[in-house]
Amino acid sequence: MNTYEPPIFELSGPGKIGANLPALDVPETALPQELLRDDDLADFPELSETEVTRHFTRISQRNYCIDTGMYPLGSCTMKYNPKVHEDAARIPGFAQAHPLQDADLSQGALQLMYELQGYLAELSGFDQVSLQPAAGAQGEFTGILVFRAYHHDRGEEDRVEILCPDSAHGTNPATAAMVGMRVVEVKTDRRGNVDLDDLKGKLGPRTAGLMLTNPNTLGLFDEHVRQVAELVHAAGGLMYGDGANFNAILGIVKPRDVGFDFMHYNLHKTFTTPHGGGGPGSGAVGCINELAQYLPGPIVAKTGEEYAFEQPERSVGRVKSFWGNFGMLVRAWTYIRTLGAAGLKEVSENAVLNANYLRVKLQQVYPVAYDRTCMHEVVLKGQLKEAPQAKTLDIAKRLIDYGFHPPTVYFPISVPESIMIEPTETETKRNMDAFVDAMLKIAREAAEDISILRNAPTTAPVRRLDEVGAARRPILRYNRDKFRELRKESHHATPDDQPERPTY
Ligand SMILES: *Cc1c(COP(=O)(O)O)cnc(C)c1O
Repeated sequence: MNTYEPPIFELSGPGKIGANLPALDVPETALPQELLRDDDLADFPELSETEVTRHFTRISQRNYCIDTGMYPLGSCTMKYNPKVHEDAARIPGFAQAHPLQDADLSQGALQLMYELQGYLAELSGFDQVSLQPAAGAQGEFTGILVFRAYHHDRGEEDRVEILCPDSAHGTNPATAAMVGMRVVEVKTDRRGNVDLDDLKGKLGPRTAGLMLTNPNTLGLFDEHVRQVAELVHAAGGLMYGDGANFNAILGIVKPRDVGFDFMHYNLHKTFTTPHGGGGPGSGAVGCINELAQYLPGPIVAKTGEEYAFEQPERSVGRVKSFWGNFGMLVRAWTYIRTLGAAGLKEVSENAVLNANYLRVKLQQVYPVAYDRTCMHEVVLKGQLKEAPQAKTLDIAKRLIDYGFHPPTVYFPISVPESIMIEPTETETKRNMDAFVDAMLKIAREAAEDISILRNAPTTAPVRRLDEVGAARRPILRYNRDKFRELRKESHHATPDDQPERPTY
């Protein structure tokens, strides 16, 4: 719904007020001079409660979210977050626990953290888990700090190179560089795996480790992961696992068993704690015993029936204030407990099944980047045989008109015109069929009249935006003239130009 409404600043009228306070029953006193503003509140809108409520409610309804529709954003795992998590996180003993309250008053919270460490360790095969990092990228940063500390303790300060396949998530090379490592890129072979010959040529006495996103950003499980790990270990390096895509292999593969030494989990992806605009993340990390002494603390330990925080012996230090994003930990614990071991395995089976369902339904029209069974996501190309002039961006924008959040586009960058689709296991067949219908209809539209795609979206509150400009030169304050000018340029919906939502 996109009813036209002037911006809130233009609804302002002098004397309009949204509050209704009782008459003062104490003597009125003047505020001290130093607390008063010098300038006038010019241009500050004066509005009724109705107007303010409608303004904010309308804005909230423009926000596409997983609670209103399918969100097939590849690599982001935008799955549905069960509402029972919110109830759990709001239990007063958790929600109101003070981070500095004594351990004997926090036994429940500590028990939850201890158990979550154990579940994550069990799922991955690792010996120890730290719940500190606040996001996947921070988990990666932590892991590379740990690798560095490990090599230093062994007198191998020269190990300063981190290998990253070109199919890695962008955060892998970025975090390695932040730690001060030199990033060495490794090529991908024809089946979307790490190119073993290229890898062999790049390993050596300066290798600190390799960061492998597995399944990788092509949505593929590396068929040679064990060989990759053996080669890296033989060269004296460590294996970092980017576990953001753990969603695809829960209960099926333990990353440690295929050769990883350290890994981060994205609780806000795999374990359904909210993310994006929905809240803070959590990038817990797990590792083998040899690295556990370097983990960021505190970590919860259990002695007898008592839970307490401990700092690992040679810890790289804290990476987050207090105890990590505790509310996220409550949600992840709840998710794991409500599903159980069998349920978690089913999550991954269905995530993979759904992605392959879309792959098979779409690949006749949208060429697939690598023609093999995919994991939880599939990478297609917006290169249409019948409409070579169509661009992935046009297809993505047209999907908005059909009511779908577009998939990830132009990532991974190694695939031209890439469209990366991750339906997740929480989408129904019916929704996926509607998505397929929309994608196929868009391909037909592209062949018949490319301007339909070029002009899209036509049903959104705004049309095509200058996305780079919006990121680089954001206009954060309301300016009436600028607003009107932009609205003209972007065909911001007005009462006279309300195109109809297409049907299919
Ligand atoms: C999302 C993601 C990350 C980064 O996680 P954040 O929590 O966003 O920092 C890293 N690697 C992969 C493969 C991802 O999908």
